[in-house]
Amino acid sequence: MSKAQILLDLQEIDLTLDRLNKRLTEVKAARRETDEVKAAQAAAWQAEKIAVHDRAARKELEATTTTLDTKITQAEQRLYSGIVKNPKELLDLQNDIASLKRQKATLDEKLLQAMLSLEEAEAVLKQRLAEQQQIEAAWRASQTDLAAEQTRLEADITQQTLEQTSTRAQLSASDLALYDQLRRHKSGLAVVEMDHNACRGCGVKPTHSVVQQLRQGDQFARCGNCQRILVQV
Ligand SMILES: [Zn+2]
Repeated sequence: MSKAQILLDLQEIDLTLDRLNKRLTEVKAARRETDEVKAAQAAAWQAEKIAVHDRAARKELEATTTTLDTKITQAEQRLYSGIVKNPKELLDLQNDIASLKRQKATLDEKLLQAMLSLEEAEAVLKQRLAEQQQIEAAWRASQTDLAAEQTRLEADITQQTLEQTSTRAQLSASDLALYDQLRRHKSGLAVVEMDHNACRGCGVKPTHSVVQQLRQGDQFARCGNCQRILVQV
């Protein structure tokens, strides 16, 4: 096998490695939590914060209502007990009861609002949690496939790297330096086959002397136009 043909094999391996590594980068990026998952988590957390606040507000209003109910009951018991006989004292007691009942009416209104607000907050929370679960389940399902793909890619990369090492061992340091340099500057294509007597890299026909070199095969024949190494197949 000519040096150029070995280089062509090496390039095939390197192109495969480029493709595998590119895909591995994509897979690794996709295995991180997506923006969609993060947004769903944030929305559920926000809904929970509101629900927790509304639950506490309702509890506090209920406690205040209970205290007020007790006060009203006690005042009414005193009023109807017959203990208080002084008309002025009785009137004061009646006024107190009326005032407590007005407070109670206002409180009942607030409590009703708090209960409605809480009901809505609980409904929103339930919906956000369901959405979060659904999005995370889809994300986890995709993770299983991606994890398997990553394992395959890493095994393929190991295999190709072994082949790359053994192929490079067949070539001299100067040949490899030329190849590596051309790969860097020629979009990854250092070696090209001849296609109908033209360079497959740029389409230009090589000169007579280049064709001669190609036939002899003891040194690299290079396209006079794009400088790539040519291989006759
Ligand atoms: Zn060319």
